[in-house]
Amino acid sequence: MSSLLSPEIVTVDSLTDRCDRCSAAARLTVTLTSGGELAFCGHHANRHHEDISRVGERITLEQGFEWAGK
Ligand SMILES: [Zn+2]
Repeated sequence: MSSLLSPEIVTVDSLTDRCDRCSAAARLTVTLTSGGELAFCGHHANRHHEDISRVGERITLEQGFEWAGK
């Protein structure tokens, strides 16, 4: 069962994380409702935006990144 609540979205000047899928510079990090955190580059953040929205409790976007899930 998925949550009906939208994740909280915050924006920061820059992220130092690396994408968990391809190791490119992260443009988005997500704190999961189940605990833990994932990082995504722009490409993977947009490709997986539906999943990120569904399982995310808190999403951090890098300033200037236009996320498809917003
Ligand atoms: Zn990536």
